[in-house]
Amino acid sequence: MEKVIIIRYSELHLKGKNRGWFERVFAVNMEKSLKGIRHEIHRHSGRYLIENFSENDIDVITERLGKVFGIHSYSVALKVRADMNEIFNAAKQVCSAEGSFKVDTHRADKSFSLNSMQVSAEIGGRLLDNIPSIKVDVHNPDFIINIDIRENGTALVFNEFFNGAGGMPVGTSGKGMLLISGGIDSPVAGHMIAKRGMKIECIHFHSYPYTNLQAREKVIELAKQLSTYTCGTTLNIVSVTKIQEQIHSLCNGDYMVTLLRRFMMRIAERIALKCGAQCLITGESLAQVASQTVEGMTSSNNVVQNLPVLRPLCGFDKDEIIERSRAIGTYQTSIEPYEDCCTVFLPKHPVTRPKLSDVIAEEAKLDVEALVDEAVATLETITL
Ligand code: ATP
Ligand code: MG
Repeated sequence: MEKVIIIRYSELHLKGKNRGWFERVFAVNMEKSLKGIRHEIHRHSGRYLIENFSENDIDVITERLGKVFGIHSYSVALKVRADMNEIFNAAKQVCSAEGSFKVDTHRADKSFSLNSMQVSAEIGGRLLDNIPSIKVDVHNPDFIINIDIRENGTALVFNEFFNGAGGMPVGTSGKGMLLISGGIDSPVAGHMIAKRGMKIECIHFHSYPYTNLQAREKVIELAKQLSTYTCGTTLNIVSVTKIQEQIHSLCNGDYMVTLLRRFMMRIAERIALKCGAQCLITGESLAQVASQTVEGMTSSNNVVQNLPVLRPLCGFDKDEIIERSRAIGTYQTSIEPYEDCCTVFLPKHPVTRPKLSDVIAEEAKLDVEALVDEAVATLETITL
């Protein structure tokens, strides 16, 4: 008797002609997530089966698979020969000691000597004879013993379904560039878009030496945590020190954040286009802070010429974002106290509803193109 893991996938069935491609991407992503752990992955009638692993690795395997988008649910099952005695022994092992139950049999092998109903009745009867505190309830059972008789002479027996991460396999919805700060929101935004199947690259802006190296390490750590859901990622790091200094010395300081955002968007778009990313992603949430007004978004959107800007958190409350951040495991890192560049030269009274014409007038005091070029030249890329 061997333990195996049955993987059921989410929305792949929606994809008609592309189904084969989706499944291949999905299988590769599972392989990547299980790198370094002995296992085999086999496709089997609209599901995948993970086999030949050490039982000691089950927890780490299920933990890693819990981060693979596209998995709808999974079950740890016992694999036995398709023989009624062996099936019964497996059923006995997965059966609870008390409560009501039913047996559900699925028979892919139509040549098996008994039909599904007969298998369920026979195994159910034998369980009742052997385990005194259980009873049958076919309408509202406490637990279900599932038996899957396969075409290759084996049967799978299991009683639990665990939820997978849901969503679509990463790599089936193109590629996006996530503007990642050291805060709570942007990793959550990246996670949400990756869940819809998008591959994620990250870009981070720093103002070293005004920001410190711990702030940088923090962002690397966040990108690394995100990469466990996104089948790896690349972190692009760009210095905006010169830009902030120039804004500080030449422009109305109240426009610091507004102008800096426009530079970030320009640089992010430039690098996104270079690496084939098809959109920008930010962690903005409407009205969360002074700069996240619709006027602020108008101002930053205005400089992005070719790509859509996705703001998946726009409709979320901070509480909801924090809850997600905890669930994906980035929260503790995000709340470390190191400051990012938006806090450098922070004005006392930042404009909250910037008028685009005023923003453009302030920006006209700067040599925008030269500053963008100079910033892009500081690009450093880390593969995670
Ligand atoms: P976060 O929690 O993601 O930092 P926030 O609530 O602090 O978001 P802001 O600081 O206003 O909000 O930033 C809004 C968005 O702008 C961020 O979610 C991120 O996408 C982007 N951003 C801000 N600062 C940086 C930075 N230093 N590098 C890259 N992107 C940034
Ligand atoms: Mg922030």
